[in-house]
Amino acid sequence: MAETFVYDFADGNRDLKDLLGGKGANLAEMTNLGLPVPPGFTITTTACRRYLADGHRPAGLDAQIAEHLATLEAAMGRRLGDAADPLLVSVRSGAVHSMPGMMETVLNVGLNDDSVIGLSAQAGGNDRFAWDSYRRLIQMFGKTVCEVPGEDFEEAISEVKRAKGVRDDLALDADDLRGLVTVFKKIFAKHTGHDFPQDPREQLDLAIEAVFRSWNAERAVLYRRQERIPADLGTAVNICSMVFGNLGADSGTGVAFTRDPATGEPGVYGDYLANAQGEDVVAGIRNTVPLQDLERLDKKSFDELMRIMSTLEEHYRDLCDIEFTIERGKLWMLQTRVGKRTAAAAFRIAAGLVAEGRIDLDEALRRVSGAQLAQLMFPRFDLSSEPTPLTRGVGASPGAAVGQAVFDSRRAVELAADGVPVILVRRETNPDDLAGMIAAQGILTSRGGKTSHAAVVARGMGKTCVCGADELEVGRDAFTVGGTRIEEGQVVSIDGTTGRVYLGPVPVRPSEVVRYFEGELDAGYSDDPLVAAVHLIMSHADAQRRLRVRTNADTGADAARARRFGAEGIGLCRTEHMFLGDRRELVERLILAATDTERADALAALLPLQRADFVDILREMDGLPVTVRLIDPPLHEFLPSLEDLAVQVAVAHERGEDAGRTEEMLAAVRRMHEQNPMLGLRGVRLGLVIPGLFAMQVRAIAEAAATLAREGRDPRPEIMVPLVGAVQELETVRAEAEKIIAEVIGDAGVTVLIGTMIEVPRAALTAGQIAEAAEFFSFGTNDLTQMAWGFSRDDVEGAFFWKYLELGIFGISPFESLDRDGVGRLVRIAVQEGRAARPDLKLGVCGEHGGDPESVHFFHEAGLDYVSCSPFRVPVARLEAGRAAL
Ligand code: ADP
Ligand code: MG
Ligand code: MG
Repeated sequence: MAETFVYDFADGNRDLKDLLGGKGANLAEMTNLGLPVPPGFTITTTACRRYLADGHRPAGLDAQIAEHLATLEAAMGRRLGDAADPLLVSVRSGAVHSMPGMMETVLNVGLNDDSVIGLSAQAGGNDRFAWDSYRRLIQMFGKTVCEVPGEDFEEAISEVKRAKGVRDDLALDADDLRGLVTVFKKIFAKHTGHDFPQDPREQLDLAIEAVFRSWNAERAVLYRRQERIPADLGTAVNICSMVFGNLGADSGTGVAFTRDPATGEPGVYGDYLANAQGEDVVAGIRNTVPLQDLERLDKKSFDELMRIMSTLEEHYRDLCDIEFTIERGKLWMLQTRVGKRTAAAAFRIAAGLVAEGRIDLDEALRRVSGAQLAQLMFPRFDLSSEPTPLTRGVGASPGAAVGQAVFDSRRAVELAADGVPVILVRRETNPDDLAGMIAAQGILTSRGGKTSHAAVVARGMGKTCVCGADELEVGRDAFTVGGTRIEEGQVVSIDGTTGRVYLGPVPVRPSEVVRYFEGELDAGYSDDPLVAAVHLIMSHADAQRRLRVRTNADTGADAARARRFGAEGIGLCRTEHMFLGDRRELVERLILAATDTERADALAALLPLQRADFVDILREMDGLPVTVRLIDPPLHEFLPSLEDLAVQVAVAHERGEDAGRTEEMLAAVRRMHEQNPMLGLRGVRLGLVIPGLFAMQVRAIAEAAATLAREGRDPRPEIMVPLVGAVQELETVRAEAEKIIAEVIGDAGVTVLIGTMIEVPRAALTAGQIAEAAEFFSFGTNDLTQMAWGFSRDDVEGAFFWKYLELGIFGISPFESLDRDGVGRLVRIAVQEGRAARPDLKLGVCGEHGGDPESVHFFHEAGLDYVSCSPFRVPVARLEAGRAAL
């Protein structure tokens, strides 16, 4: 038998999304639940794929459509486009994932110069309705099937309204609309070179092919690349018999949600528009009324709708959104799907459904995400004073930022240096704006979407950003919106979650969820349902996860905070900040030391300071592992810049003074200058070249641990050697370290592990050898990514990543989310060969990726023991580690 390309709504179900698309599968599901869905059928994604591959409709498709159309006509007692009593249908695209840029919907297919008369007669002589439906068909068909510019039609409507002196479409009568049909046909013929097709079946076939082709529309292709939706799925096409919400006051159309998609609060929520056809509601041409008003307008339909909504929630066990139409008091369901929701709603709905016994905790955990949790942790605007937004753009990077408007990056840097919070306002940003973006509290642009330079860079920096606020006219020293002019220095507030922009300061409120993690709100007693929901789901995630979650922290205070957030140790304690501030002078002495004695003196002075740092941190993390990384960056980073020193020396000479020490330092900086410091003398290389440096650090760690152990505490230090590429490097450091540890620890009863970072590709590729000398590996995925791709992470994000994202070369920066195919492969090799050499090898990750949801799933799959991330990301990693284990 020939392949089946067409399914009646009654023959499908919701599990057939791949074949029938989301809309088709759910229409079938509702049909089979016995809900009032206007009959129809779905053409499969397979048919679409075949059409796109072969360039014509696959053999057998036409016959199957004819067969299903005949069945539909029989059921409805009408023939498509019949002159006396026409059946009309809608042609609706419906891919597996809903996708902007694809052809949407053509309503009223089957109308022509004859059947428009029949339609009017069937509607009781309602001429206005019939001609309105016809002009809509020509308009939608022209626009979506034949690419006639939509403005031409809209312009024609405006002209008729202008001539008549009315503003509302409803004020146009049958004659006006009949006249419009004539004008529309002319517009159609002018743009397409042929007349509007009068044959109903030809209309249907052309619309179906247009839906197929729209799969490859430019915007759809781009969207798929960015969202990583496979390019070869194809779309389904739904043919659905028309029902009419525009037949008069007893008809109408609406959209509804079974719960509030903004807050997750139980109780239905929606909008209704009387005497209107589907697309009017979303188009916002006329003002809708709240769904609750329908109870007054049409109690019978309202009650039925409520019953249906509870059936749907019961059935899908989730928030559903629906589209419905009422035709002369009869309710019809036109669409349903599991509805989109805000982050807060996701948690509340999941917890609510658990409480109602509809889903279990595993399912609740599946339905929330780390990205949503992260959103809930940003501070928010306190909108209780109900400020009116000035305008709105795209919420591109979440958070709430308040500051003085500035229009120039240099100015932003200047003001920020004086402690003035600023919002950088630009038409769009480019790599030259980087310093200004770093200095600003937030970024506001009038151009570009979520993948614009501003959006990408801001997200990378965790900075609040609203982009594409296209009502703004941004100039060099002011922006205008509507009639308002805002100059430099005026305060604006931007909401990176909702995209709203306010004039003046809006108070910022800390996140309730963060207060809960901080221990300020007790979930058991809190009357905040969101906090209770987060508590419920987090507890389950903790119970399920296999991955441990540690934090990156360099101070006792950070360690303590991370511990409150649930960190189970420190995965990365960087020691370089311990060389800054008032210790600079000691470090300078170390670097400038001319003799071994001078160097030894400088190190001896640093030792007690470092020891005190480690005592602090190990005490806060008592009983938990603390991985300390020996000094990593090149030493000249601790000296003033070459340029500054050169200027100082030149000035001194000019004045005939002796530059003395400055001159010495300049010489040292010159000596140490590297073209490519990230690939130069740093990490283990530094430890091997500067005698005594690593030894001092190891001694400080061991002494701190011994001190605490003698106080009866339980310190668990792990010493991590950075930038190792060959086992010989590690062996050399290890031999020296072991001697010091044995000497210092004595009988204090502390175990000190020695391990290495895996961040140079060669280390990953020789992991079997390196594991012989390492008790643990910690993947430094920032450097590993940088070196695997050859991307300088300090330069490339602002320079060209936006272009790569725009081109779809990757959907997300590999510094943000681990590149599974390339960098991930290095990780897998190292895990496998490392464990083969040493079965009890501890494995973790300490790059930024440790807090990225996608990457956490990868690390779980790769079999690591823990991830480590910044304190604020710890809850996100806990949640995702739980989800990864489901
Ligand atoms: P989208 O995916 O953009 O919502 P739809 O295919 O759902 O596109 O259709 C757009 C609008 O037309 C919706 O409001 C829908 O309810 C309405 N509509 C679609 N098919 C019909 C029909 N057979 N009868 C009445 N209204 C319809
Ligand atoms: Mg729809
Ligand atoms: Mg590194």
